[in-house]
Amino acid sequence: MDNSRCPDHGTGMLAQTRIHGHGGPVMHPVVKPALRRGWRDRNTVQFGMTPAHALTLGPVATATGSFLDLLDGTRGLPLLREEGRRADVPADHVDALVERLARAGLLDDTRGGGPAADALREKTDVLERLRPDLASLSLLTPEPGGALARLAARRALRVRVRGAGRVGALLASVLSGAGVGEVDVCDVGRVEPWDLAPGGLTTESLGDRRDAAARSAVRRAAPDRPPRHAHAPGSGAGEPGLSLVIFAPRDDVAVHAPDPFTAEPLMTTGTPHLYAGVVEGTGVVGPLVLPGETGCAGCLDRDRTDRDPAWPRLVTQWRSGRSRRVGACDLTLATAVAGLAAAHALAFLDGGSPSAAGTRWEVSLPGLDWRPRPVRPHPECACGAAGREKREHSATDGGTRATMAVQRPSTKRRREAGAARPTGTWRAHV
Ligand SMILES: [Zn+2]
Repeated sequence: MDNSRCPDHGTGMLAQTRIHGHGGPVMHPVVKPALRRGWRDRNTVQFGMTPAHALTLGPVATATGSFLDLLDGTRGLPLLREEGRRADVPADHVDALVERLARAGLLDDTRGGGPAADALREKTDVLERLRPDLASLSLLTPEPGGALARLAARRALRVRVRGAGRVGALLASVLSGAGVGEVDVCDVGRVEPWDLAPGGLTTESLGDRRDAAARSAVRRAAPDRPPRHAHAPGSGAGEPGLSLVIFAPRDDVAVHAPDPFTAEPLMTTGTPHLYAGVVEGTGVVGPLVLPGETGCAGCLDRDRTDRDPAWPRLVTQWRSGRSRRVGACDLTLATAVAGLAAAHALAFLDGGSPSAAGTRWEVSLPGLDWRPRPVRPHPECACGAAGREKREHSATDGGTRATMAVQRPSTKRRREAGAARPTGTWRAHV
């Protein structure tokens, strides 16, 4: 396992920025601007609107409440204490409020996040473009400065997308646009008219090599120039150092029945990979395979054979019957699949555990309701995920699925932050 693919930049960050540590870095607290603020009553503040991320804080005195406006990231603690004194808020109340907000995950630090965040802060143009993404990350990182640290960490990531059709080229561009430092695209052949899609391959690229055209799209989407790197694009699939490989095949048989053989080098090197595509009016996102931990293409294939003895026979016919035909791939569906797959990829790359791990999400025209299809680890699959699951279950006495234990830094941090939450702070029921 390669630590670089699952950056955990948050560990200890809250401790570093503890306001009581006078010898530590100076914190410039800002109440997370991503959350809209409102008073539920005279002394209870609600931060945020949606159930997923809203919190309420109370009781808060009126004087303290107006003091919240001063927490806009322009002032360090000494100045805040001074201004607090002028507004009849004692210094220890200021410290307590900042501490309380920080522990509730409501506070960011405009100077925090470490050296990589500092470097990104210098690039104001890049940061302006990524402002909505940074605001979004601030909802997922409890520690002050953590959002910028994660955004900066994306710049060091290497992702490869295999397939440069309607889904693949757009997906790669979206990841690049979201700040992933290196997105490579592999494919064969030349750009056909039906490969074109808004945000993906353009009319100017018609007739060009697909991989080169998709790489151009990726460069156009990037908020910054890509970092220099020594290796040649398109080298071996199981190449170490890749944070994630995404299969986005143009061939709809490969979408419906992913070939375990294709992913073998990735299984060997322990490289996480994600499947996405459109097959006959059905969009597919997942599974995200964490080799040896969650169900893989081999598990999926064996499970389908268990359920339907005719499955292998059909797959053989489908694969041998590949023709030059153009598959049914609705543009809107392809766009939705590309976007959702990119979101799952990014959630994983940011250190989270998206629901595509061990699950294929499917959506079909015209109803468009997303359905999860679990990809269970198969006991006969050589990937070993089933053995691991069994061991975990016996170890935890049938407790929660532990296959994602390694990939859970953010959830764990949040739980810890929640446990440390002072009384009077709770998740809003809105
Ligand atoms: Zn497997």
